[in-house]
Amino acid sequence: MPYCKICGSGTVVVYLPYAKMSLCQNCFLEFYVKRVKKTVEEYKMFREDDVVGVAVSGGKDSSALLHSLRKAFPKLELKALHINLGIPEYSEHCESKVKLLAKSLDTELITYDIRERLGFTVEDFMETRFRRKICSICGTIKRHIFEEMALEAKVRVLATGHNLDDMVSVMLNTFFNGHWSQLIRIKPILPPLADGMAYKVKPLIRSLEKENLLYCMYSEVPIRSLGCPHSNQTGIRKYMQLLEKLSEEDPGFKYIILNRFLELIPIIENAVPKPTLTQCKVCGFPSTNEICSYCKRTSLVKQKEDNY
Ligand code: AMP
Ligand code: ZN
Repeated sequence: MPYCKICGSGTVVVYLPYAKMSLCQNCFLEFYVKRVKKTVEEYKMFREDDVVGVAVSGGKDSSALLHSLRKAFPKLELKALHINLGIPEYSEHCESKVKLLAKSLDTELITYDIRERLGFTVEDFMETRFRRKICSICGTIKRHIFEEMALEAKVRVLATGHNLDDMVSVMLNTFFNGHWSQLIRIKPILPPLADGMAYKVKPLIRSLEKENLLYCMYSEVPIRSLGCPHSNQTGIRKYMQLLEKLSEEDPGFKYIILNRFLELIPIIENAVPKPTLTQCKVCGFPSTNEICSYCKRTSLVKQKEDNY
């Protein structure tokens, strides 16, 4: 019968194979929050007197992020930022969980309802030629809206819930496909694209997906129980499966990949020409093209609305 490696109690709830540690519920939660705090401090993601926006989707990762940041930095001003994507049933469900969480933490919640603000929803792309690429369209839309929300909410820093599994599988995907300009953007802290825009930070890069779920369970964090009806990450899933296999052999494997890539990225960054940014002619945001990909994509569904 294992005992908690930290406090010695006999009520072990989790075993972390990469650290060879069995932990009880309280020690696991403390361990998790300490690691988030250490990651924020190591990469100087923000200071305790900052205003930090947290992009909360209603899923386990970003909900664990908001909750653990509140525990790790009790004095920090946090604003929860949520995008309602207008996906029937799913989006209302997600928003209701985020509302519950923000209320329980006494944190301001700002919701951007894309149907109200933009007159279309992510669902509308199902009627376009991007039907099969809806996840990537949704990602483009969310990234653009995060920038807008950060400006409106006046936050200097925007935190997202990307976890260790996400980081490492996206790193491998971009690496094997030679997408160097994308690879160099997978960093724990990304400076603003232009003056006045927000820093992007990822405090959960050392937290496994499974641990985020356990954190939510043991801290009674409300999270969505519905899956997105459009979710399909075939490319990335291939690397996730590969990583699970390799982690069975060596439980520290994901950390090793993360650490090696974090050493490699600045070297690649110096070798790859920096893209020249101009201002998108439509929205004015920084873009590598005359019209940014957000404006290009959304013009498709806007045209449709205009034709009614
Ligand atoms: P994803 O791109 O869905 O893997 O999400 C990555 C991160 O973006 C999440 O951990 C959240 O921090 C944020 N995010 C995703 N969807 C939303 C949403 N609807 N509202 C607010 N933040 C979101
Ligand atoms: Zn634009």
